[in-house]
Amino acid sequence: MKRIAIITSGGDAPGMNAAIRAATLTAISSGCEVFGVKRGYQGLITGEIMELTSMAVSEILHQGGTVLHSARSKEFQTVEGREKAAIQLRNLGVEGIIVIGGDGSFRGARELSNLGFATVGIPGTIDNDIQCTDLSIGFDTALNTVLDSITKIRDTAVSHDRVYVVEVMGKNSGFIALYAALAGGADAVLVPEIEPDLDQVIKRIHTVNRIGRRHSIVLVAEGVYGDPLSGRSFTESAAFKVGTYLNLKVKKDIRITILGHIQRGGSPSALDLTLGTRFGAKAVDVLLAGENGKMVGWVDHDVQVSAMDEAIARKKQVEPEIFKLAEILAST
Ligand code: ATP
Repeated sequence: MKRIAIITSGGDAPGMNAAIRAATLTAISSGCEVFGVKRGYQGLITGEIMELTSMAVSEILHQGGTVLHSARSKEFQTVEGREKAAIQLRNLGVEGIIVIGGDGSFRGARELSNLGFATVGIPGTIDNDIQCTDLSIGFDTALNTVLDSITKIRDTAVSHDRVYVVEVMGKNSGFIALYAALAGGADAVLVPEIEPDLDQVIKRIHTVNRIGRRHSIVLVAEGVYGDPLSGRSFTESAAFKVGTYLNLKVKKDIRITILGHIQRGGSPSALDLTLGTRFGAKAVDVLLAGENGKMVGWVDHDVQVSAMDEAIARKKQVEPEIFKLAEILAST
């Protein structure tokens, strides 16, 4: 294999640039030429493709987001769109493709595989909802951003004896909410995987009050009442819904905060830089070994390779025992 293309697709995640850099440098050191596709599969269709040299990736390591940009492409989900993309790749003589993204992006990669290109996926999504890997690029940085925000919100919650409902990202997945609740000592957490029980949240707020603490933090994943973007208005955010209910039932000053897209940005954490780097290098090794339809992942503190089909068979869900632990810690 002499020519490899790299695509970042779906939501951007801090650490994607580390994967682009490591894949590029590893491939060049093995005598390959490397191309970066801009704007995901849409850029592949329209031919927004640039050569990636050592110089091109030399200062990207610590940047958040993705220097290749990302996009969602409806056209790539059509046979005609994918054929246009394949023509672009064939014209450049690309044989192997590294796709950095979430499970939707991997479904796209599988289609490229069906068209005769060797593909390998790198899990890059702050949601951490991809199977066959303990961690996806971006999750750790997003989690640290949420923790930092909770710490700041807690200061004002304490000062004013308030209840803060804090909404974090996770349309279908509660990993950010649950792990931030554990690491940040939240009093209640609501995740999409588990039916929300607002009366239980109220009980917690009362328990906390009884032990003499007059403030509370309630963490809510944005998708706890379904995908927030599927037809509902902004005022129907999960935080708004929970906050409104608590306001009716609890005699306390209730405030809501939606953290939003600050969770996607910022310099990658050391862990995400390490994961991105290890994944990028391994993805090239996988392609050069002649493999196809694989995903690299982080399992038992090492990089492992799995079948992409297995990784996208279903979304990874939060562990019920970790949710139980968060409940025990919050109600005692
Ligand atoms: P995130 O988890 O951050 O949302 P993702 O990779 O799951 O990332 P999606 O929007 O689901 O994000 O997918 C990214 C792109 O992958 C889509 O815009 C589309 O171009 C392509 N894609 C998704 N599913 C398919 C499919 N079944 N066939 C072909 N292409 C697909």
